Amino acid sequence: MLVLGIETSCDETGVALFEGGPTGRGLLAHAVYSQTAIHAEYGGVVPELASRDHIRKLLPLIQEVLDQSGVEAASVEGVAYTAGPGLVGALLVGAALGRSLAWAWGVPAIAVHHMEGHLLAPLLEDPAPAFPFVALLVSGGHTQLVDVQEIGRYRILGESVDDAAGEAFDKTAKILGLPYPGGPALARLAEQGDPQRYRFPRPMTDRPGLDFSFSGLKTFALNSWQTVRAEREDLEQARADIARAFEEAVVETLLIKCRRAVEAAGVERLIMAGGVSANRRLRSRMDQEMAARGVSVFYPRAELCTDNGAMIALAGHERLAAGQQEALRFGARPRWALEELEPIVAPAHE
Ligand code: ATP
Ligand code: MG
Ligand code: FE
Repeated sequence: MLVLGIETSCDETGVALFEGGPTGRGLLAHAVYSQTAIHAEYGGVVPELASRDHIRKLLPLIQEVLDQSGVEAASVEGVAYTAGPGLVGALLVGAALGRSLAWAWGVPAIAVHHMEGHLLAPLLEDPAPAFPFVALLVSGGHTQLVDVQEIGRYRILGESVDDAAGEAFDKTAKILGLPYPGGPALARLAEQGDPQRYRFPRPMTDRPGLDFSFSGLKTFALNSWQTVRAEREDLEQARADIARAFEEAVVETLLIKCRRAVEAAGVERLIMAGGVSANRRLRSRMDQEMAARGVSVFYPRAELCTDNGAMIALAGHERLAAGQQEALRFGARPRWALEELEPIVAPAHE
């Protein structure tokens, strides 16, 4: 089944064509347009500007992936769009256009949960993880450990009680004077940092449980940064050292909790997804750590860790292929818990 995927939950317009099933050709094309430049001047996402820009970009991007893949619009067999969680106006753009295109083309439509999209993105890679597995979702708005029995059967094992990991990266970057959005820039800067200079805490690792708290780390970064500035030290090196200490603290905290989670769930596979899973230190440390325990680690290529249409096309495909579809209406769910999703019920005649 050939599915068009549409992602507009925040500040990336993502579109993709994915063909699933035994004879499917997989990901045929995907394109992402990032609105970063528009929001940078405000230091964060401005919801109304995001909605307007999705309207401007969505149809041209859909045309682009059709052209790139040589697929005729008439061959598209289903449309998947992100319906939540996210910014309501931004979501409504993708939902309205996705549902309308499906109606115009006479094909089924499916509303996709953005975090289910992230969670299933590793299935776009070869080898794809088999079920069950534990998922570490680390993005701009979420930090969650999820027990995944099958598609749609999710149990949250732990999550952040305050900032998400990506949010903490972005806020710390801002404190250090890096341009928005700072996560990837902070990670680059950390490469030059001396890991011995500072040691930040590993929050909530001294007690049992799988919840996270990252907001205290940015306070540590702020205090360290203010001290070196007052003492007029070599600011460039100090900035890199603080970035390094922050990154080490986040990565090690995630490692400790993932270790506990795979033990508690008794699984042999761990997947990572969401923007922070593009982080190179996190990937290599997690690979090492889990290999030593006989656990296989899966994550998408870096461009499919952050928001994209490919993960939405794939997640939507799985549900459409199982016979699920939306009625002839659409809506957005700015708040939508992963645990509310239904498992995919196999068609009765199979
Ligand atoms: P959510 O998926 O929770 O709704 P989102 O869609 O905004 O949030 P993503 O697009 O998945 O989040 O990821 C963006 C986040 O990932 C940002 O916070 C960004 O700083 C972070 N990020 C991206 N690359 C890296 C990296 N290499 N190291 C650390 N953080 C990174
Ligand atoms: Mg984004
Ligand atoms: Fe996301």
